[in-house]
Order: sequence, then structure tokens, then C-alpha cells
Amino acid sequence: MSEAARVRQALPPKGACWYCDKPLDNVRRFCGKECADAFDEEKEYTR
Ligand SMILES: [Zn+2]
Repeated sequence: MSEAARVRQALPPKGACWYCDKPLDNVRRFCGKECADAFDEEKEYTR
């Protein structure tokens, strides 16, 4: 598992997508794989 994926899985669900802020249910962090991947990429580059 990559460092970014570990960071992503440690995020608490907040009722919205962490990447695009689209409203979600309370157990999901991202609305889709695309947002999760994009979030990972940003994390890799902003460290
Ligand atoms: Zn999203």
C-alpha cells in the first residue's frame, strides 16, 4: 500500500467527498475512485 493510500484510509468520513466536497453518506470518504485517486496524487505532490 502506498503512503498516500494509507493517509487516505486514515481520514475520518466527514459526510462529503474529501476531494470535491460532494455530499455523501457518513461512511464514505470519496464519491468515487476517481476522486480517491486524484486526492492521492495531490498528497504525493504536496508533501
Ligand atoms: Zn468527489
